[in-house]
Amino acid sequence: MNTSRCNTCGEKAVIFMRQHRLPLCKTHYLEWFIEQSERAIKKYGMFTHHDKILVAVSGGKDSLSLWDVLWRLGYQADGLYINLGIDGEDHYSLQSKNYTVSFAAERNLNLHIFDVAAETGKNIIQLYKQSQRRKGRPCSVCGVVKRHIMNETTRNYQYNVLATGHNLDDEAAVLFSNTLSWSVEYLARQFPVLEEEEGFARKVKPFCRFYERESAAYALLRGINYIEEECPFSDNSTSLYYKRLLNQLEDAQPGTKIRFFSNFIEARKKGALFQAPESEKVVLNPCPVCGQPTGSSGKCYYCRITAPTVVENNDDFPPDVMSFG
Ligand code: SF4
Ligand SMILES: [Zn+2]
Ligand SMILES: [Zn+2]
Repeated sequence: MNTSRCNTCGEKAVIFMRQHRLPLCKTHYLEWFIEQSERAIKKYGMFTHHDKILVAVSGGKDSLSLWDVLWRLGYQADGLYINLGIDGEDHYSLQSKNYTVSFAAERNLNLHIFDVAAETGKNIIQLYKQSQRRKGRPCSVCGVVKRHIMNETTRNYQYNVLATGHNLDDEAAVLFSNTLSWSVEYLARQFPVLEEEEGFARKVKPFCRFYERESAAYALLRGINYIEEECPFSDNSTSLYYKRLLNQLEDAQPGTKIRFFSNFIEARKKGALFQAPESEKVVLNPCPVCGQPTGSSGKCYYCRITAPTVVENNDDFPPDVMSFG
């Protein structure tokens, strides 16, 4: 097989996807990427052209590419950018916000911007510092805050579905982590679509079958400007470590990551595998302040950490798929 020539037209290939044994030129790669996105949306019944979709955008390649693809496919997709207030040397939040705002303006798309510091009086680092979870990095607090804001915006603006740009590398790393610890409750909830339930918005991941390099190639070839720096707190994270391990397996055996994830999803679809026992399911109650579901009997964790004084007992993560970043 000539891997330097496009499989469709014979022109010079710009990418060779080893796991599919597929070399493609720029034109056919962009077409292929959009077709594959549409196929995943339909395969898992994620949404239709009648749905109002909110895309969570971070200014990175995955979420901006996702928004671009949904826009090109004619879906009603608006964006939500959450300004965490993480600045430091690279001005991470400022830069990522600028990329997102420019992207939306160039395409005349609607963008909601939620500024954590303006809304709660504290940026994510300050919220983390006043929380009881001061162990290394602010990611657990950040994850709770982001999920709360995404859920709230979806509900307040009556979107039917929340779409995120998680790619195969993200999903495989989460699956790997949950499998290593046999976290049945998390495994039971890992799927390309999480149906709306008890106050949680319906969540979908249309890029869950794309390798990270494929969404990066799409952004590059499409001319999307995105923030290349990762959040400074993602350095040396467990997620990155698992991604590196999975990449080593992939190098040795192309297709390992897609098989690992897809075969898990197929097994889940078939039935009882990885169902959390009823006795272990978290009972949810509406938070008396914001109304969002919480495993706690009082205020949800978001309302407690954004309140002026923080109270003890912060152990109720929303029952969501464990996610990194
Ligand atoms: S790495 Fe992700 S979860 Fe952690 S602080 Fe940065 S944006 Fe938040
Ligand atoms: Zn071609
Ligand atoms: Zn609340």
